[in-house]
Amino acid sequence: SDDQKRARYDKFGEEGVDQDGMGPGNAEDIFDMVFGGGRGRSSGPRKGEDITHVLEVPLSQFYNGATRKLAINRVVIDHSAPITTCNACDGQGVTVKTVRMGPMVQQMQSTCPQCHGQGKTFKTKKSKEIIEIHIEKGMKSGQKIPFRGMADESNPDIEPGDLIIILKQKENEDTAFTRKGNDLFVRKPITLVEALTGYTTVITHLDGRKLIVRSKPGDIIKPIDLTSEKHYL
Ligand SMILES: [Zn+2]
Repeated sequence: SDDQKRARYDKFGEEGVDQDGMGPGNAEDIFDMVFGGGRGRSSGPRKGEDITHVLEVPLSQFYNGATRKLAINRVVIDHSAPITTCNACDGQGVTVKTVRMGPMVQQMQSTCPQCHGQGKTFKTKKSKEIIEIHIEKGMKSGQKIPFRGMADESNPDIEPGDLIIILKQKENEDTAFTRKGNDLFVRKPITLVEALTGYTTVITHLDGRKLIVRSKPGDIIKPIDLTSEKHYL
């Protein structure tokens, strides 16, 4: 039944092995009960957990687009060291001890002490890597950019999770612009004389362009009026 156990282990990852120790015969029944007849379930390679990183982005970079470089410290498998299957548990990550108590035979399962449940012996190392984050024009705060497989490598058999960069608009930025959806608003104080007689003002846009904003002839601008110039990203 070791072969059976291994087959189940290969197919279902760690969960299948937990069903052992019930004694032969009824293991299959229990298995069906727990997994709802899920023997046809495909599990694919196991994958590690994703990690996230919040990147502060000034409004101008959302408007113009930008490429940002980020150094990340990862734990990776050291491939210069041998990767071997643990001989204490035969790569299972668990050891099973058979205990006889009179007529009863019980199997006790515990995490392999030699490989600490990894099933393999291997070395890891720290690796500093640079990733390039491409912020495209018009991207929004909260948008996620995934880097596949860039989370830590915890085991040669487990596909590392993704590194997910979350863009976050920088707060309290020293800019006259605020963003609402895909629109930009700018607030600009004017004098009373300008309000009564009209004004011409120059606004430097986020991409450096100078925009000339003029009041319409004859318009009187009430206080609180937002002299807002609307531009689409
Ligand atoms: Zn082991």
